[in-house]
Amino acid sequence: ERNEIKGDGGQQEVWTIGRILKWTEGYFQKAGLDSPRLDAEVLLSHVLKKERIFLYVHFDQPMEAAELAVYKDCIKRRVQHQPVAYITGHKEFMGLDFRVTPATLIPRPDTEILVEAVLQRLKAGTEAEGSMIADIGTGSGAICLSLLNYLPRLQAVTVDISPEALAVAEENARELGLSERAEFLQGDMLVPLKEQSARFSGRLAAIVSNPPYIPRGDIAGLAPDVRAFEPIGALDGGEDGLDFYRRLLAEGAEFLQGDGFLAMEAGIHQAQQLKALAESLPQWGRCEIIRDLAGIERVVVLWKK
Ligand code: SAM
Ligand code: GLN
Repeated sequence: ERNEIKGDGGQQEVWTIGRILKWTEGYFQKAGLDSPRLDAEVLLSHVLKKERIFLYVHFDQPMEAAELAVYKDCIKRRVQHQPVAYITGHKEFMGLDFRVTPATLIPRPDTEILVEAVLQRLKAGTEAEGSMIADIGTGSGAICLSLLNYLPRLQAVTVDISPEALAVAEENARELGLSERAEFLQGDMLVPLKEQSARFSGRLAAIVSNPPYIPRGDIAGLAPDVRAFEPIGALDGGEDGLDFYRRLLAEGAEFLQGDGFLAMEAGIHQAQQLKALAESLPQWGRCEIIRDLAGIERVVVLWKK
């Protein structure tokens, strides 16, 4: 069935793929969205269950009425600033497909810098059989599952305070075929590891974390897509944004093996503060800082002394 509606000129016009994309782009632009064309294409290919390239090859194909109805609902949600990834339920990260829900932060491209830094260092070090890492605040599992995917002998223990987020991470592990090498523990930062200290003390090759790091006072100033839709518990890093880092630095080293490291994503202006904090603690030695593509100091790696 073809969906025909009244056009401006009064004649019957067909909503082809090309026409609906063009219309949506203008509508999204007026609504103040940053990437109107890309958003329109991602949402439409989601509704049609096709790759984006399909849209270009089928520009003149008319939309079915049912597809149009679902797509209109997506558009409505997007102009209310719901993130595209929550509408589609998916986000690509490190070349892998992750399921995301409003209980999980949407994995960011910047976080790929952290994953790459950890990949390099684990490869250079002892990627021995049964070597284990921890991902603290795993969210969708993006960091830890990418590491497991690209290091086929690695094992991981992941922690999140949110049972809903942890359920999504477990689902992603199943989808990616990584469940057998990942363990999921609900709890507060390093507490679940402390509770099983016989298993974890001195055992980990690395601890990886992208903790909540936004200073509380800055949350109101975040983009509406983030502020109104992403979980506040994934963003709020306390008064100065550093609450979770203080705990990782104070208590992380005891779980690391002798040549182990703690690798963290940092917010703007936080890397030097983390370095200074580590220098005030006896358990940390060398500190490496890695910049993102915008030149911002984004990743801090601390080696156990
Ligand atoms: N690792 C994911 C990523 O990079 O996309 C999610 C990072 S998100 C910034 C921080 C995560 O830490 C959230 O999933 C949140 O639920 C979790 N979290 C917040 N407070 C926590 C706590 N006290 N203990 C463990 N996890 C916590
Ligand atoms: N990168 C996220 C943002 O800019 C913050 C994630 C975090 O707190 N770790 O919104």
